[in-house]
Amino acid sequence: MPHDLPKAYDPTAIEDRWAEYWVSENLFAQPTPTAANQGERAGGQPFTVLLPPPNVTGNLHMGHMFQHTVIDILTRWRRMSGRPTLWLPGTDHAGIATQMMVERQLTSEGTSRQKIGREAFIERVWEWKRHYGGVILDQMKRLGASVDWQREYFTMDDRLSIAVREAFVRLYDQGLIYRGAYIVNWCPRCQTAISDLEVVHGEQKGHLWEIRYPVVDADGKDTGEFLTVATTRPETMLGDVAVAVHPQDERYLHLHGKKLRLPLMNREIPVILDEWVSLDFGTGAVKVTPAHDPNDFAIGERHHLSSINVMDDRAHINAEGGAYAGLDRYVARKKIVADLEVQGLLAAVKDYTNNVGHCDRCKTVVEPRLSTQWFVKIQPLADKAIQAVEQKHIRFTPEQYEKTYFEWMRNIHDWCISRQLWWGHRIPAWHCGVCRKITVARVDPTACAHCGSDEITQETDVLDTWFSSGLLPVSVFGWPNITAETRADFDAFYPTSLLVTGFDILFFWVARMIMMGCWFSSDVPMPDGSPRPLAESVPFKEVYIHALVRDANRVKMSKTKGNSVDPLEIVSQYGTDAVRFTLASMASPGTDIAFNVARTEGYRAFANKIWNAARFLFMNVDRAAEIGITVDLAALGSMPTVPADAPLEDRWITDALHHVTARVNASLENYRFDEAASEIYQFFWGSFCDAYIESVKLRLEFSENADKARTKSALTTLVSIFEASLRLLSPFMPFITEEIWQSLYEGDLPARSVALSKFPSVELNWLTANSRPGIDSVIEMDFLLSLKTEVLALRKEIGVEEKVAVPILLWCALPSFKKIIDDNHDLFIRLAKVSEIKHAAMIPPDLAKRIGSNFEVAVDYAKPRDVSAERERLTRDIAKYEKGLAAAERQLGNESFLAKAPAQVVEGLKKQELETRLLLEKARAALGALPKD
Ligand SMILES: [Zn+2]
Ligand SMILES: [Zn+2]
Repeated sequence: MPHDLPKAYDPTAIEDRWAEYWVSENLFAQPTPTAANQGERAGGQPFTVLLPPPNVTGNLHMGHMFQHTVIDILTRWRRMSGRPTLWLPGTDHAGIATQMMVERQLTSEGTSRQKIGREAFIERVWEWKRHYGGVILDQMKRLGASVDWQREYFTMDDRLSIAVREAFVRLYDQGLIYRGAYIVNWCPRCQTAISDLEVVHGEQKGHLWEIRYPVVDADGKDTGEFLTVATTRPETMLGDVAVAVHPQDERYLHLHGKKLRLPLMNREIPVILDEWVSLDFGTGAVKVTPAHDPNDFAIGERHHLSSINVMDDRAHINAEGGAYAGLDRYVARKKIVADLEVQGLLAAVKDYTNNVGHCDRCKTVVEPRLSTQWFVKIQPLADKAIQAVEQKHIRFTPEQYEKTYFEWMRNIHDWCISRQLWWGHRIPAWHCGVCRKITVARVDPTACAHCGSDEITQETDVLDTWFSSGLLPVSVFGWPNITAETRADFDAFYPTSLLVTGFDILFFWVARMIMMGCWFSSDVPMPDGSPRPLAESVPFKEVYIHALVRDANRVKMSKTKGNSVDPLEIVSQYGTDAVRFTLASMASPGTDIAFNVARTEGYRAFANKIWNAARFLFMNVDRAAEIGITVDLAALGSMPTVPADAPLEDRWITDALHHVTARVNASLENYRFDEAASEIYQFFWGSFCDAYIESVKLRLEFSENADKARTKSALTTLVSIFEASLRLLSPFMPFITEEIWQSLYEGDLPARSVALSKFPSVELNWLTANSRPGIDSVIEMDFLLSLKTEVLALRKEIGVEEKVAVPILLWCALPSFKKIIDDNHDLFIRLAKVSEIKHAAMIPPDLAKRIGSNFEVAVDYAKPRDVSAERERLTRDIAKYEKGLAAAERQLGNESFLAKAPAQVVEGLKKQELETRLLLEKARAALGALPKD
């Protein structure tokens, strides 16, 4: 057979093959559109979207699969609609995650990064990346993501690193990068500062310790009086430099200007006055530890106090901690509390629920700690980014995220961009050993820019990963090297069209891309040389924030809970297409997805239906070929049309295709993947497979004396509607549509892939031009189909055997409906298994009838009676009723049951007894009335 599709649909047999073909053929490579290469596919404005770069250490989870499905549907749709389309893939070097991975490897080898040194360690990370990195991209290839693999990037690539360095140097030169002592969230496990956003807060049961600080006189002698302070972290007292009270606090007026002896450390510290201190919290006296608490740090700044950092990178007490040096923070806490108790200085220990910050990555309790960090003075960048959204140069879907964005951007703090890691973009700043000044440069300097000394050493910190990913929209298109020669990419693809991402990185990433995109691209002139306006400086025009994928019970998927679904496993079970379709069908904006395998099973059945429709169609095409009828495949590829006098089913399915096409395009335009999927599903399954194929079968005749012109016209419509439906479905189910579409053309392809064919579209005026008021095909076919439904229901009700065609009595409300039936007589009797249509002025009252909006119908059929079967049934029923009745009577005669049972149970039982008795009498009468054999 020329078209050989295997009998059963088996996704695993076809998907690997096409996934490989798409990659090896570079099918989705998007060359830079230039005047020279804009051929027939020059469909205007390019559609550009960046893949939110997964961590290079990442593995594909359901959230990725959902996000990639949404992006892939949109890019395939835009590409097929004729726009030059670029989906750009890449991975993030993921500072902390990757460093942790390699450190673990080193630990297992009995060594550590400190032992092998920075250079060797970085070499090891690259080594790791070459071996294990980017697994997720291979998984994307398998799932058919239509990205341009030739443009794949890595955030540590030389090209992208140049952009990072340029951005840093420019901000530094503009006075927007500074170095400062600051309280940061320090993770003792990761040994780096982490941003506020990477700290997860959670309530934790702890204690509030009240400690008595002795008041001393001018000679440093104890006065016998104490000032009691309260703390949740007693170990920080080692770094106390003062105790603050509110200036108006009457309890402590006599202590103004006095000094205290810091217990355990025997250091004199002053009592200071600060209005920030709350009169009602604890004792109203607050110990001040500027190096270990953000509020204390602020007090310290106001009062020009020194800061004593008492912990090292691992949160062990350092040399500043006297007798406690070397102890872990929690070990030190225990010992300090015990020592205070021995000295009689522990006033009280109270239970206290504390809001404690944990490292998002390793769950270690974060230690607020003073350190010197690098910051971006964020205000000017934020102002521009706020303006861009206020002026609607960027549109958020769902809209509510615009508000979230503004809230965050209007309360933004300076951005701490340094991380104490080795893996990442090392900060391009050099410290001078002689003049102590800093040299920041685009090219590694050999001497201090201030004093000329060659005693310079590079900063050891690296940049926050989001610093480089925030630059991606400009850096991937060549910034900062935008020259006359290299600028084609930037001109064509910047600003990108759309960003599809999760709400969890709205601030981490989306906001930073907007700030950095607007800031840095504004220097790049427009293609015509004019200055770049804000509208063209934004990194993307639209942001679509997608929902989360949860389990079937709407619980967030997590490995620890064991409720996560492995996308590759589910794909191997049901096929990528069915999983994609499930995700699309549930993707309405703002609603989380409760992923349910039952739905995937349903869409697997849908794929099966499509497969079987294709097999039916190919079988008919091949049979037609045997008698010399061929369908002109070269005429396919656009929107099918039929002549005005074509048979009803042909006009109807063509109209229906136009309608569904218009709705699918509109739904995708509005990110309503759920609506688009549902439209296609209903059309393909209900209209095309169930109604149209059933209808058109009548005209597919292949005998020698068949009307060949009729067969050919039927086959042509069938094939052209099917082919257009495949194109419509292709962005949602790329694999099965590719397989069938390629098979249909038997190697004589109009394009290398269905994904490069034209997406169905409807001229704006088509729907108005083709509505024929009164009797258009939709009204006609709807009438026939609803009449058919009622007739089939009546047949079932009466118990007509499957194969028997029966006469019907039909009353129509209007002559026009009578005409529809008459015009489509042959079609209808076949669809509804009718032998004869008798028009009637009214339906006789003794016939069971069905009433539609324009008709009444009855089946004129008396079922031949099978007396012996009826006798058998009645005898069986009588036995059943007798048994039930006896049981009820027994129970109602049981005195002790009646005494104990609730009234309503007894009532129910009596009612049941009565009903059974009536049924029994009826059955006995019916049996008696049966004719004798
Ligand atoms: Zn950590
Ligand atoms: Zn110097």
